[in-house]
Parts: sequence; structure tokens; C-alpha cells
Amino acid sequence: MTTRPLFPALSPRNGDAMKQFLPPELCFFVAKAVKTFGCIAQTTETLDEFRYRMLHSVAVTWRGGENDIAFARFRWSLRLAVSFMAFTLMSHSALSQVVDRNEQGLYELKSPRLTLVTDIPIDDELKSWPGLVEQSLKQWQLYFDVSEERLAGLKVHATLIGDRPGLTKLGMLDGVPGFDEGYQHGNRIYVREQPTIYFRRHLFLHELTHWIVWELYGGGGSPWFMEGMAEMQATHLMSGGKLMLCMIPASKEQVSGWGRLRIVRETLERGEAPTLTQILAYGDEREDHVIRYSWSWAACVFFTNHPKYGPMLRNLYRQKLDYSLALSRNFRELLASDWENVQVDWNAFVSDLDFGYDIARSTVNRSSGVTAKALRPGESIRLELASDRGWQATGILLEEDTSAQIKCSGNFQMMRPVQGEPTTWNVEPNGITFQFYRGNPLGSVMASVVSSHEPEQTKRWETQRVGLEITLTPVKKGELYLKINEPSKGLSDNEGRISVEISVTKP
Ligand SMILES: [Zn+2]
Repeated sequence: MTTRPLFPALSPRNGDAMKQFLPPELCFFVAKAVKTFGCIAQTTETLDEFRYRMLHSVAVTWRGGENDIAFARFRWSLRLAVSFMAFTLMSHSALSQVVDRNEQGLYELKSPRLTLVTDIPIDDELKSWPGLVEQSLKQWQLYFDVSEERLAGLKVHATLIGDRPGLTKLGMLDGVPGFDEGYQHGNRIYVREQPTIYFRRHLFLHELTHWIVWELYGGGGSPWFMEGMAEMQATHLMSGGKLMLCMIPASKEQVSGWGRLRIVRETLERGEAPTLTQILAYGDEREDHVIRYSWSWAACVFFTNHPKYGPMLRNLYRQKLDYSLALSRNFRELLASDWENVQVDWNAFVSDLDFGYDIARSTVNRSSGVTAKALRPGESIRLELASDRGWQATGILLEEDTSAQIKCSGNFQMMRPVQGEPTTWNVEPNGITFQFYRGNPLGSVMASVVSSHEPEQTKRWETQRVGLEITLTPVKKGELYLKINEPSKGLSDNEGRISVEISVTKP
């Protein structure tokens, strides 16, 4: 009997996610410096050291000593100084702005890239919007993998609407079709005032995403992709003036007024969640748009972050976009041979999706890479369950007319706060029996028998607690999946594996 790990050791952090945390200005400056000098190390000296080196070089050059080296140093210093000044001037000029009132009495904020017209007095938050556009573009340069030159010179005109009838009377919405919260056409965007600062900024970033996708690819894509991408990019964090797009918020307090996760949860609980097939076929009707936006957001987060389906989608949308269902059709064709796995992965994603969801750790593992096989009666197999991952495929197919014995042993380490201090707990397969998650002890081994047929509604997996030992008699044929009972956001600090032995008997 061999033992195989269900998932190999995971690299601690997802590279793409880390990029989001690097201050964009720093990246930009370092990139500029590297381009100019071909060496990062030289940019690490302090300004005082830099000034000293420059003065020293000038003095030595003047005296005629150490000629070549000193002269090279001088040129080098001069280039660094010019580059630094150019960078400072560029950032400053991109953010320079004029606030005024126009002849209609509306407030106007003009910056080189963004013009904002509104009937709402321009406060400090609105004054930060030109900076938000610059920060967003730097992140989109990385996200959409385009050159700086491609984004240079792009300009956008935004209308922020306080009193809609008032602005309509002034002709500010002439030629704009009816819309709920926001609208984009070409490089003009419209955003309605919102009860929270967060959500107003969110809508602004949502419409900005429509704008940049249109600038880059000529359209927006099928409705689920267009709205899902805009919602995904716009879900952001602000910290010390730094904007981080494309976040899964850690708590609802971070995203006041944003209700996408709540709506996903409520429709799941009501048994009204759309299937993936329905989401991909969404049209652009306005009824129930909040529910459709929420599910489009979830589908976009799922697909764009998936190690296999993400690159397939990227290759499609980066060719050219329109507003038809062509993108959905082509994507479905590409996924056709994988559709059963897509179903499993999607429903697993939805099962655990919550604040702080850890995409890298919770994406279903397919490293076994083989079609699930049934065990012969009497045959047994031993596996290792990783404690820091979400659902893990065992590769074992369970039939309706069999019983599976699952036995677990060993322990793993979990971090839990004790009196406010993070403390390591040794957890056995039974879990911590005085703390519960979704009705079962935290850390307990859980099982689910998963059919690969698309259900009539998207729904959470039905699970059973394994603990130390269980005999499972599946009501329908499916592959056995296992995991530790813990919210996705808590997986990253777990360490260790649980040993699992599975055997099958005919009743
Ligand atoms: Zn939109």
C-alpha cells in the first residue's frame, strides 16, 4: 500500500497577489531607474549619500584626478538626478488639477487625464480621483500586460450625478440611455452619488474598468464578463492613500455598501443561485441586475484566477472584444472537454466563497490528474490530506451500492488566538470540539461525494464529518473529496498533514 500526498507543498504566496501590494510609485520609479542604468543596486543609496557622491565626483573631475572613473560616476549621478527630477515632475503634472465652476454652475475638476463634472461640491475625496486614475492605470498596465506607451495620452471624462433631474434639465445626460448606478460610453463615464464613500469610489472604478477595457480591446465582452471584470477590478482597498484593485475583501467593514457576497449567500440559501451555464448566457437586461452583477463577479473571480481556465479566458478576451455573446460562446467551446471538472471546481469555489477567501489555497487540486477510479472491494489506499488547502480530490470514485470506510490519524497545527495572542494548537482529525464552523468542530476532517453533472442550481457541496472514522454510503455516484473544516481565510497558517486510509466494501 503506497501513501501519496493529495497536494504537494504550496509556495507560500501567490505571485500575482503580491504584485498588488507593491506600491505602484515605487515599482514605477525602480523600473525607470533600471531602464536608465540597468542596475537596481545603484538606486538604493540615500539622498544624502547620493548628493555626497555627486559633489565628490564633480570635485574629482574638476581636479583632474581619477579621471575616467570619476567622470563616469559624474555622468551616472547626473542621469540619476535628471531621471529623478523627471519622474517627480511627471507624477506631479499627472496629478495637477484645477477646481472651478462652469457657466452652468456645476463644479469642474480638471487634471491632465481626468475631467470631472458634478453638481456635488468637490471635496478631498473627489480631489483624490485623478490620483486614483493614475494608480489604477499602473495596476492595469500589469494586469492586462500592456506597455506604458499604450496607456499614455488616454483621457477620460466623468460626470458624477447628485440630482439626476437637475442634471437632465441642464442637458448633461442628453443622449445617455437609462441606467441604474453608472454608465460608460467611449471615454465618457457617468456615476450616481452613493450613500457611502467606498461604494461611490467602487462605482467610479467600475466604470473606469469599462473604459480601459474598451480602450484596450474595443468593447466589453459578453455581459457576465463585462460586468464581472468591472466588479472584480473595482472591489478595492484604500490604505494610506494607496489603492489596491481586484481584492477579495477580508471583512464587510472594508467595503461599506458593497453587497456582492451577501447576495451570493442569500441566493444560495434560497436555492435560487444560477448555474454557470446561465451566468455565461446572461444578456444585458436590467431586471435583477444586482443579482446578475454579483454572480458575474463570482464567475469572473473564479475563472480569471483558475490556473487552467484563467489563461484560456485571457487568450480569448485579449484578442478583441465586442458586446455580444461571442466571448461566452467561444469560451464554452474551449471548456467543452473540461466542463465536468469546471462544474466541480465552480461548486467547490462557491461552497467556500466568503470574506477573506484564499483563492490560491482553496482552488480544487487536480494534481492527481487522472479520472477518478473505483476501488475494488477489499482494496485500500492511504492518502495524505494537506491541512492548508481547501477541497482535495482523492481520485476515488464511490458507487451508490458500496460503502467506504475512511479512517484518519495523525495531527496538524493550527493557529488560534488565545487571549488575543496567536497560539499554536495541535489538532486531531476530530477537530477542536469546542469551536465550530458551519455546524462541525473546527479542524475536523470533512468529506463530500461529488457528482460531475451540472446541478439545476449552483449550490454548496453537501458534506459529512469524518472525524477519526466514518462509513460512507453514497446516495449517488461521485468522486470523494476531503478537507479540513475551516474557513478558507484561516488555511494559510495551518501546517501538517492528516493520514487517511480508505477502503470499500459491498454491503
Ligand atoms: Zn458596468
